[in-house]
Amino acid sequence: MGLWAAVHAERFGMNTILADAGGLGSGASGGLLGALMPHMPDRWSEKKQFQFDALVSLETEIAALEAETGVSAGYNRSGRLIPLPKPHLNRIARDHSEDAERHWRTGGRSFHWHVIDRSPVDGWPDASAGESGFVHDTLAGRVAPRSLISAIIALLRRARHVRIMEHAAATALDPDRGTAQIGGEPIVFGRCILAAGHQSFPMLQAVTPGPMKPLGQPVKGQAALVKADIDPALPTIFFDGLYVVAHEGGYAAIGSTSENRFDDPGSTDAQLDTLIEAARAIAPILRDAPVVERWAGLRPKAIDRDPMVGRHPDHPRLIALTGGFKVSFGLAHRLAEAAMCIAGDADCRFSLPDSFAFSSHIAVASR
Ligand SMILES: Cc1cc2nc3c(=O)[nH]c(=O)nc-3n(C[C@H](O)[C@H](O)[C@H](O)COP(=O)(O)OP(=O)(O)OC[C@H]3O[C@@H](n4cnc5c(N)ncnc54)[C@H](O)[C@@H]3O)c2cc1C
Repeated sequence: MGLWAAVHAERFGMNTILADAGGLGSGASGGLLGALMPHMPDRWSEKKQFQFDALVSLETEIAALEAETGVSAGYNRSGRLIPLPKPHLNRIARDHSEDAERHWRTGGRSFHWHVIDRSPVDGWPDASAGESGFVHDTLAGRVAPRSLISAIIALLRRARHVRIMEHAAATALDPDRGTAQIGGEPIVFGRCILAAGHQSFPMLQAVTPGPMKPLGQPVKGQAALVKADIDPALPTIFFDGLYVVAHEGGYAAIGSTSENRFDDPGSTDAQLDTLIEAARAIAPILRDAPVVERWAGLRPKAIDRDPMVGRHPDHPRLIALTGGFKVSFGLAHRLAEAAMCIAGDADCRFSLPDSFAFSSHIAVASR
């Protein structure tokens, strides 16, 4: 989120320090999966429209980023396949198909939620997984998280308005005086966009008066990368919480656990082994694929589950940009643009859903 905010700062011509406590991209964003998954097309809402617009516009954003830097972000609107193991799921999926025809269209383009009898690719996933057919969603895609981060960093390294400070934690944040320490160096700021992932929550809580529940929490996720001889354009398989995402170079990412309680944020364990086994069962081509990496990270989950973006009601210099939880990659460019519009007191060319507002999360935490 913070990297995209810096991209927009450069576009705005706003002099900015991009400070990271670690190396750039070393948080939850530096993982393996990068699935870009639309919400279901039924019960359409402002939030679903926002995500749809963000997913569609990401393609153009990434094309511009790649053209400017020459660095591939590993993006492909490769789609998604969802097995339907029971007949009633097929009926529901057909209704969703009509919903998608209605809502998944923009500027002469339309995306689909096809209900099909068998997968377009033999064994991906195995036919037995979809006894009542499959959904083939053509809006979903994937991006390679670390490649995207490399592309953004390449852009920022040549930026005129952005100074990068790595291994420089922001501490002693005083949003009223507009001061902080960054890597021990005193800094005076006009605006501070706080995009510290799950670590944003305690920092925001510390400057938010009143008794309230925690504004958010970290949710651990584990994922793995395997190397196989597969077409990188294969659609992502999504089944019962399991993702299998084909990436460039014949890699497939497998994820993810969702752990509200954990002892070690960085470790992987038998829960990941179970996911890898499930992936090998549903995609037999991965049966003997060697695991080349196991990884864990902490997702930022805001109290109301939605992203948390906006000005602090008591401290106008402070702007929250966090809470992307499980869908950050498809939204971050837009959320960051909105945060930068707020920071620059500028009109934004789109509006954020009300439930994303920082004030809305505070209201939920105060109930
Ligand atoms: C296993 C797993 C799989 C996932 N799969 C997907 C997926 O397929 N699709 C998807 O969209 N999302 C996915 N997510 C979620 C996504 O990765 C996160 O929501 C997203 O990366 C959060 O981005 P962020 O910028 O808010 O936080 P982060 O990427 O964690 O960045 C926060 C940064 O803030 C820095 N920081 C912290 N404290 C300070 C401080 N005091 N001063 C300065 N810097 C600080 C950290 O060093 C870090 O670099 C997944 C997450 C996990 C763990």
